[in-house]
Parts: sequence; structure tokens; C-alpha cells
Amino acid sequence: MKQLNQLILCSESEGRSFLRELAVFDQFAIVTHIEAMPFRYHETLKKLKKAKEEIVPLTVPVQRTHRHTGCPFCGRAGTFQCNGCGYVSCRNGAKPDHICPGCKKTFKTAPVDVTYASGSGFVNDGLRPDKTGNPQSATFETDLWKRANGKLIKLINHRNAFPS
Ligand SMILES: [Zn+2]
Ligand SMILES: [Zn+2]
Repeated sequence: MKQLNQLILCSESEGRSFLRELAVFDQFAIVTHIEAMPFRYHETLKKLKKAKEEIVPLTVPVQRTHRHTGCPFCGRAGTFQCNGCGYVSCRNGAKPDHICPGCKKTFKTAPVDVTYASGSGFVNDGLRPDKTGNPQSATFETDLWKRANGKLIKLINHRNAFPS
């Protein structure tokens, strides 16, 4: 089992984001926690993340439990991965179009076979097409779980260090 994260922008409330924690198994992944981020906090987190971070492609289905459903800000359960700016955002599954909160562009949505996750939750580099036009791939590392956990703890400690 590997513990990874996805940072997801809310497409309804501007400046809002949440961290979706995934436990990744061979056949499926489960959402184990959803952490609502303070206003515009993803901008701070992005500055803290390592420049070269492993982006892990997931080809297994992501299962939600009833404790951890959708976006904590608007309740939407769907997600959209933007190949333009590389942000993941919450999505209203009933609509064919989606306005990406990362780049403000409107996209037609389509189902995908692969999602991305990482230690910090940012998956931008995995989603942005490389020079060949294909999304960049990355391989699993044996110590990824340890690094992912350590990074998340550091990020959360950093956030808690802000005066309230
Ligand atoms: Zn939302
Ligand atoms: Zn975008």
C-alpha cells in the first residue's frame, strides 16, 4: 500500500483547495482523508514543494467512502484533470463543460484511464504534456510512501505554524 495525495482546486469557491489523501493498493485506491485548505493555501504549498517530485500515475479505480465524499467547499464529487495548466479541480459531473479554476479556460470533459498523485499532492508536471505531446509518466518508488508521509507532515506543520 502506498499513501499519496492529490491537491484539488474548488471550481466553485475561488481560492479554495483541498488535499485528497489516497491509500493505493494493487487493484484500487481508497480516499482515506479530505483536508480542506485555508484560503489560497495551495499557492503557499506549491512554493514549498520540491522542484523535481515524483508524480505517480494511477490506473486503478479511486473509490470514495461515505465519510470522504466530494469537495469540502461545494460538495461536488467529480474531479477534472487539466492538461493545460496541470491542476486537478472538483467538477459537476452533470455538466459536459468545465471551467478549470487553475487556468480559467473552458474544456469539454472526457473520462480518463489514469489519474496522478504525489507526496505533496501537486500533479501538474504529470498532467502537462511533454515535448512528445504525451503526459509525462513516472514509476513507483519503494520509498515513496515514506517520503509522501514525511512531506505531508512537514506541510501540515508549516501550515499550523501560521498565526491564527
Ligand atoms: Zn468544490
Ligand atoms: Zn487548467
